[in-house]
Amino acid sequence: MSDAALHPETLAVHAGREVDAETGAVALPIHPSTTFERAADGGFPHGHIYTRYANPTRTHLETCLAALEGGAEAAAFASGTAAAMTVFQALGPGAHVVASADAYHGILRLLREVMTPWDLAVSLVDTSDLDAVRAAIRPATRLLWAETPSNPLLKISDLDALAAIARDAGAISVCDNTFATPILQRPLDHGFDISMLSTTKYFGGHSDVLGGGLVTGAADKFWERIRFLQGAGGAVPSPFDCWLVLRGAATLPLRVRAATDNAGRLAEHLAEHVRVERVYYPGLSTHPGHALAARQMKGFGGVLSFTVTDGESAAINVAARVRLIKRATSLGGVETLIEHRASIEGPETRTPRNLLRLSVGVEHVDDLIADLDEALANK
Ligand code: PLP
Repeated sequence: MSDAALHPETLAVHAGREVDAETGAVALPIHPSTTFERAADGGFPHGHIYTRYANPTRTHLETCLAALEGGAEAAAFASGTAAAMTVFQALGPGAHVVASADAYHGILRLLREVMTPWDLAVSLVDTSDLDAVRAAIRPATRLLWAETPSNPLLKISDLDALAAIARDAGAISVCDNTFATPILQRPLDHGFDISMLSTTKYFGGHSDVLGGGLVTGAADKFWERIRFLQGAGGAVPSPFDCWLVLRGAATLPLRVRAATDNAGRLAEHLAEHVRVERVYYPGLSTHPGHALAARQMKGFGGVLSFTVTDGESAAINVAARVRLIKRATSLGGVETLIEHRASIEGPETRTPRNLLRLSVGVEHVDDLIADLDEALANK
């Protein structure tokens, strides 16, 4: 049976893992070695030279990422941000980038504060508005950077249409697939060139490891450049971190589904709450991207945002009063997190001041509802 015929639940458990030939160990060994012995003829019979270029534990993780995203190859990085940075560096100076205005703020900061001085021109657009995307394309456009669902407004962009716009413009298309993960959405199936992941989030799944990944549909020239930068720049994860992410991947489908079910229930509950102004969740039929999300996703994900009545201080008070839910940034862990997004995004933020983002975990949903109800009642 080919890997392509296997279901994601099966790939999550088996892709990149085989029983250790030397010991029969079912759990993968970790290879901390930074260097690998040459054969007497000077060659490298096992294919590994030095861990910055490649490491066996990292290769296992990369195999798993590629299989889940349906890609030709994957490259694992020390963080999601390092993965994104490598894409931008691979473009070279002088290129123009069209990026989602509601992309993760750290990616936008990279574009604004690191890559713009490096002579990259950037246009930020609402990628859910295809006319705006078409209008932003220039002759020098080399990259279309999308994030759907977006962060933190959960906007949905049309993956098929965006991939076609990029293709017509001769630009590379990359989708930050961190929120959805390949369990809910596979950008390469929609014609995207590369899917990008912060594996810190759902893949790791336990808020205890940083990681990132790029998965390509084709091992083309751009991909060769990315591979070169991965080894030359050295933003690679440690073997132990690769092992943790790979261990998390095995339960990714279970956790993503549990978080998605909980988020759907919470979104419905909050939408009816008298102290909630608006809920941003693509699973709600009132969400403008609901029909599109239902078409291109296999579930609406575990992240939702909501605005509260009475402004910023009320939002901060709600976050201050939760007891079970943790006040912390990040997402995709087993525990539910709440965050006042504008505070962490800094002065450049476009996020409403009264918005709270929830990364819904895998606890019992009734306990989460009770915690939020109490915090909202005391607002
Ligand atoms: N993309 C999204 C959607 C994120 O939420 C994050 C982190 O919060 C990143 C990328 C960056 O990932 P990392 O923190 O692993 O660098």
